[in-house]
Amino acid sequence: MIVTYTKMENSRPPLYINWRNLVFFAGTFLVSVIGVPIYIYRNGLVPFEIALFAFLATATGMAITVGYHRLFAHRTFKANPVVIFLSLFFGAAAFEESVFQWASQHRDHHRYVDTERDPYNIKQGFFYAHIGWILFRNHTIDYRNVKDLEQNKLIMHQHRHYILWAVTASVLLPLAIGAFSGHLLGAFLIGVVGRITFVHHGTFFINSVCHYFGKSTYDVHVSAKDHWLVALLTNGEGYHSFHHRFPSDYRNGVRWYHWDPSKWAIWLLARIGLTRDLKRVSKFHILAARLVAEKESVELHLEREPHAFRAMTLENLKVRYEQLKTALHNWESHVREYTQLYSEISNKSDALLQSALHRVRAAQEQFLNVRDQWRQFAHELPLPLSFS
Ligand SMILES: [Zn+2]
Ligand SMILES: [Zn+2]
Repeated sequence: MIVTYTKMENSRPPLYINWRNLVFFAGTFLVSVIGVPIYIYRNGLVPFEIALFAFLATATGMAITVGYHRLFAHRTFKANPVVIFLSLFFGAAAFEESVFQWASQHRDHHRYVDTERDPYNIKQGFFYAHIGWILFRNHTIDYRNVKDLEQNKLIMHQHRHYILWAVTASVLLPLAIGAFSGHLLGAFLIGVVGRITFVHHGTFFINSVCHYFGKSTYDVHVSAKDHWLVALLTNGEGYHSFHHRFPSDYRNGVRWYHWDPSKWAIWLLARIGLTRDLKRVSKFHILAARLVAEKESVELHLEREPHAFRAMTLENLKVRYEQLKTALHNWESHVREYTQLYSEISNKSDALLQSALHRVRAAQEQFLNVRDQWRQFAHELPLPLSFS
């Protein structure tokens, strides 16, 4: 929970035991894995406890993913004051610090990923990236990277009075509901402690699992990876390779079927006027990044192969990649031409518009054909590759 920091630029923070965090995290974890099962074994679970857990886990989890992460840390959309307040209130309930601190460290994570200035640097090990950085290091926070957040009085109030916000949202609210409904102990064990632990480790999996396991779909040079299971546990934050490559996009799961309730919530809130200016990267930029990553993953695998095979495959790869790039570029320019005409011509069945649409479809088909050949080529290589 509370992490304190000292200035130590360009170097790994000194080893240090943060007793306050250690007691809080170990205590909540142990009560969750020992106390909660004993309580359930003895008393069973009543619908109230399940509903309280589901509501609070969803509200605090979404406040972190939609609010702390995509709204405040990355400014991927704009929000109405109601959404801002709920993000700050339920975000505080996650006991992951004030958004001012969280966003500062998260911006550093993106800027300095995989280096010693990354607060949860995976190069220092899985455990360190998961929770060790909170328990055993004394970090620097340079708040100059969150000057934009400083303008918002509510954000600064949450930062200055963080404990008040966190205890009210995370402890007093569930306990009041529990006392009112006659399930005080269940509310404490399941709605407070169990839920805090669940949301903590869900968030921490993004820093550990998603920088260790999964697929480097969009960038092979950083440790961030896409992992569908973490997406399931974290309201869609597991598509971490995409997120590190395009942090300004309000989506993390970019395909329509990707499990990303956070992007659906932001989109739905936009429909009722509570969010606006949702940022999306062009699908052509996304495809281009994906193709570069695929090409570079072949190149990386080839480094371990015999020279003759490597040289021949690299030559072939280069030719196919250029074909793919040209086909993508061609498709994109036809889409641009069609979009321009569409905005200029009022009669949508106009022959000019129809022929532009025909060119878009032909260019798309050509790209998909070249892409199929590219996948086939990768599939036939004696390398452990999987292009999807
Ligand atoms: Zn990351
Ligand atoms: Zn991020």
